[in-house]
Amino acid sequence: MPLRTFETAAAWRTFRPQVVGTLGVVPTMGALHAGHVSLMERSLDDNDATLVTIFVNPTQFDNPNDLAGYPDRMVEDLEVLRNVGVPYLLTPTYDDLYADDFRYRVSEQAFSRELCGAHRPGHFDGVLTVVMKLLNIAQATRAYFGEKDFQQLTLVRGMTEAFFIPTEIVPCPTIRETDGLALSSRNFKLDAEDRARATAFPKALRESPTADEARAVLEAQGFRVDYVEDRGGRRFGAVYVGDVRLIDNMQLNASADNPLS
Ligand code: AMP
Repeated sequence: MPLRTFETAAAWRTFRPQVVGTLGVVPTMGALHAGHVSLMERSLDDNDATLVTIFVNPTQFDNPNDLAGYPDRMVEDLEVLRNVGVPYLLTPTYDDLYADDFRYRVSEQAFSRELCGAHRPGHFDGVLTVVMKLLNIAQATRAYFGEKDFQQLTLVRGMTEAFFIPTEIVPCPTIRETDGLALSSRNFKLDAEDRARATAFPKALRESPTADEARAVLEAQGFRVDYVEDRGGRRFGAVYVGDVRLIDNMQLNASADNPLS
């Protein structure tokens, strides 16, 4: 089936009743890579149809330079979507999604203030608000989110439960490069030297006996560390490699359950 693109929420909502059977939605900010592709393939396997959304959501950026420098690869992204066989793409604009100019927002009062939320004020209000909008627009059976952004996944799942949103949230494992670096759109912004250095980040998270030791290892190697913390059997970290902020997390103990939700 050829890729069909919808540029407004209204255009998708008009078309939505024609989709027969189950629908999976994969929300993204574009600059697509193999991590995104793994979510799309899972959705294509699980459902009769799949909708990918590409929208760089300004309300979740606390740093205007980070937003302005976010990679824009729409030409390459369309090629990825065609190769993977995704039938539907939604590319809304800010004015379309935020006719209220962000006067209305979803906010969580506890876990969203920790880890990334402690270092990026308002970040998760932006994330939860745009995901709420996209889930309401998509009207999907299932929505696919990566464990790469584990705090986001946890908060999105909590939001759908709290607001009785009838879309199942499906977690998908983190896809990594062979040297261990988690795939991320932000990796496109690393120069060759910083890309080579970045491999030390997942290595330190994985190999250090404690979070404090991981932080010390990273600082000794010149990384600016936002946080390294252990929660609920997982280790979470965020560091700067040059100007580029990378996040990662991994399970510490295969038998630990997840009390974060
Ligand atoms: P983003 O475009 O960065 O907002 O990511 C869109 C979705 O892809 C989110 O659910 C992410 O968690 C997921 N994702 C990003 N990177 C990876 C990865 N390396 N492995 C698995 N999922 C990922």
